[in-house]
Amino acid sequence: MPVLALIEPNEELSLQALSLARDLGQPIHAFAVGEAHVELGAYGVQTVHVAEDERLSAYAPAAWAACLEQLIDRIEPTAVVAAGTSRGNEVLGHLAARRNLPFAANCIAVGSEGTVTRVRWGGSLLEEARIDSELKILSVAPHMVEATTVNGGVANVETVQANLDDGEFVVRVIEHAETRSAGISLAEAKVVISGGRGVGSADGFGMLEELAGLLNAAVGCSRVVTMAGWRPHTDQVGQTGTKVAPDLYIACGISGATQHIAGCKGAKKILAINSDAEAPILASADYAVIGDLAEVVPAITAELRKAQSS
Ligand SMILES: Cc1cc2nc3c(=O)[nH]c(=O)nc-3n(C[C@H](O)[C@H](O)[C@H](O)COP(=O)(O)OP(=O)(O)OC[C@H]3O[C@@H](n4cnc5c(N)ncnc54)[C@H](O)[C@@H]3O)c2cc1C
Repeated sequence: MPVLALIEPNEELSLQALSLARDLGQPIHAFAVGEAHVELGAYGVQTVHVAEDERLSAYAPAAWAACLEQLIDRIEPTAVVAAGTSRGNEVLGHLAARRNLPFAANCIAVGSEGTVTRVRWGGSLLEEARIDSELKILSVAPHMVEATTVNGGVANVETVQANLDDGEFVVRVIEHAETRSAGISLAEAKVVISGGRGVGSADGFGMLEELAGLLNAAVGCSRVVTMAGWRPHTDQVGQTGTKVAPDLYIACGISGATQHIAGCKGAKKILAINSDAEAPILASADYAVIGDLAEVVPAITAELRKAQSS
């Protein structure tokens, strides 16, 4: 039975969602905005439906959901899947509301008879649930399912002539503002340097930015920091922020609350820099430096500069 997947532009997590989509049925149809994506065949996609309406090139959640809905009527899939990104969840939320159907967010596995395993409470709980509807609508928890390829060929590409009125575009992206760590996305960075209350001020992040520049890293932060207005919410790592999975996560002056760890536990290694040898973050850290970050971070930066210039 067919399965329909939403492919977000330039979103690696959509490929992870395809792995779970393949467990739900065959053939896999994908809905993509903008480019043709023939390479999705390697991930088991048989047909990519590309919407060429110019208005869709910017993110517009209701309009994207309307396109999915029109494809559902044509393909009659048994499930619709998207990555559990902010956008994936928002579009599927719209879709579920339009169809008056349940929506299971952050799934990591599917079983028989509509059962799913979902990540709840920031990753501290795995829930077994059953989606009680013919059409299953679900998103896939980020970084919990591997994006594997199959022996698929090149995907067919079909153009979608979506029937969309202006009302579907009431919410849409009209502008992109570059952030200070422009160019390196927090969700995809190989190294993330995050600061917490221990950084002390917005200006204190200057030393983290400097170190990030040397390591090609993205800068993140805890919620205390965004609440204080030192950094924008887009930089927040955690349960209510971005989930990151870098090779190295450097937590500077962060205590390690469960809501923060929920966002960084996908990291391969965690280095904690904290003045408190009893800080909870040490339980999650692979390495720790106990000391004042205002001394430790510039010392690391100086050593790196020395190593890079020799
Ligand atoms: C529903 C809900 C959702 C939440 N979502 C998130 C979320 O997504 N992300 C998130 O981060 N939090 C989240 N929180 C908040 C979370 O519970 C914590 O309050 C927050 O993570 C603490 O931030 P912090 O570690 O920066 O501050 P603190 O807990 O105050 O820790 C500061 C740390 O800095 C250390 N320190 C102080 N000075 C120095 C120094 N000079 N050098 C080195 N170390 C120093 C201290 O020893 C301490 O360990 C959420 C809370 C709730 C209730």
